[in-house]
Amino acid sequence: MRRRIFFKLMLVFLLVIGATALTLQLTVHTVWERTLGEQIERDLRQKTLMFAHRVENDRQHSLADIASQEGQAAGARATVIDPTGKVLADSQADPSTMDNLAHRKEFVSALAGEVGTDQRNSQGIGVPFLFVAAPISGGAVRLAYPLPEIETTDRPLRVALFWGSLAAFIFALLVAAAASQYLGRRLQRIVNFAERVADGDLTARIASTATDEIGQVATALDKTTRRIEESYARVQTSQRELETLLNSMQDAVVAVDIDGRIQWANRSMGRLLLRAPRLNAPLIDSVRDPDFLAAIQEAARNQAVTSTRSNTIASGRTFDVTAAPMPGGGAVAVLRDLTETERMEKSRRDFIANVSHELRTPLTSIQGYTETLLDSPIANNHVREFLEIIRKNAARMSRLTEDLLTLARVESGEHRFDVQPITAEELLQDALESFRETARSYEVELVIENTASTGNVNADREAIHQIFSNLIENALKYAASGKKIILGARPAANGVEFYVQDFGPGISSEHLPRLFERFYRVDKARSRESGGTGLGLAIAKHIVLAHGGRIWAESELNHGSTFLFTLTASEAEAA
Ligand code: ADP
Repeated sequence: MRRRIFFKLMLVFLLVIGATALTLQLTVHTVWERTLGEQIERDLRQKTLMFAHRVENDRQHSLADIASQEGQAAGARATVIDPTGKVLADSQADPSTMDNLAHRKEFVSALAGEVGTDQRNSQGIGVPFLFVAAPISGGAVRLAYPLPEIETTDRPLRVALFWGSLAAFIFALLVAAAASQYLGRRLQRIVNFAERVADGDLTARIASTATDEIGQVATALDKTTRRIEESYARVQTSQRELETLLNSMQDAVVAVDIDGRIQWANRSMGRLLLRAPRLNAPLIDSVRDPDFLAAIQEAARNQAVTSTRSNTIASGRTFDVTAAPMPGGGAVAVLRDLTETERMEKSRRDFIANVSHELRTPLTSIQGYTETLLDSPIANNHVREFLEIIRKNAARMSRLTEDLLTLARVESGEHRFDVQPITAEELLQDALESFRETARSYEVELVIENTASTGNVNADREAIHQIFSNLIENALKYAASGKKIILGARPAANGVEFYVQDFGPGISSEHLPRLFERFYRVDKARSRESGGTGLGLAIAKHIVLAHGGRIWAESELNHGSTFLFTLTASEAEAA
């Protein structure tokens, strides 16, 4: 590289110096030639005038003698003509053999009374001549000076110029070589530095002390590299911190690039898999769970957080998988082990189910005996009152255990729903039929509206009936004052939206989000008094969720409440 820069610089210098020498040679030479030419012309003019003067005044010599003497003295050819152009005397030829010269350019001027000059090849010899003619009374005189003479005068100058230029050229070349060498060496240091940085050595420095442009570039590069080195150190520190943090996590974390290759994985992830995840190896080599792989793929492709459950990553364990897209493409997945939580949830549910089950028989027995005692004649009013309280509470406990059992069954996911395509109209009619009489006893009008244009839905008829029962019972219990309950269905995104609307006291907004939690009651005393268990809406929620729908309540104080839930549409015809 240094050689290349050196040669390039040398080539440029060579061209510049060569061009300068050549231009100098040409200018000096041209100026010199012009000056010489002018000098010769001036000289010849003077000599011609003197020749003319002599021809006019010298009466002792013949014209031929004068011409020959003047020609010799001037180192030129001297010619005299008469006004017609006929040659009277010539220093180099016999006048009788010569042509008429009246039309030669210099003679035309001279015969017109002025000094004439011309430069051309002589007709006889073929070399360039400088002609100067001057008028005399009775004709004109001319001196012809051969110009090749100039070449001879010129030669020493040319030689001197050539050697001078050559010396200057060689000297300039040496200086240029030294300068190129110096520049090349400095640039080479920058190149060496850049190569070290490119190889990842951020400690490389040029350390130039010069203050010229190259020095400034070197200093700027050093400064940049120092900054990069500092930033890199900071990034490495935070990366180490992050690694420690991720490795100390209970949750397993793995990140993949856009092609599904592992970028990093924490220790928990390593422990989880049978085959330790290798960096840059496809994730599918280590994990085969299709839900997990699909979640990661979806997060990377759709740039959205995706969650799923996975049971096959490690046998006998359940994981909650959350995959999120990474800014540079690819995705990161966090696996939370739910096995223990699920086990505890299950044992809690089992416990509740078992207790409820165990309580069923004694409660039925208490209820039975209480009723028998109430019917017996031995009970006086006082005893009757106590027995009534016992019966009421036993009934309440029985309802509670029944609800708890139902909830445990629905919540566990073990309950199999018999989902069939069914029309919304049928579901609403079922509910209406069951509650028509009860509503009448509450003096409440129960009506269906809006079922047209809703198609079939996927539903377990019994389960949906349970939801409507809970909602209508609630409406009767808490909102009978509204005197009207509307049941309805309308098309919604992906299915049908069912609703039970009352015109009772309504529910204030802060309760709405928690209404579907178990044992959540807005007015505890009222609920108990009306025989509520606080589980009706929780059961409804779990049934709807098991159907792939959602349930919610809309209400405003003093303006009644509406309970809504959705069911998915069915393509198939209802049975
Ligand atoms: P409960 O057995 O107490 O009725 P739910 O889970 O069915 O339990 O209902 C939870 C609470 O929601 C009730 O205690 C009641 O305060 C409130 N609620 C339910 N439906 C209505 C309604 N239609 N109008 C006003 N409040 C209601």
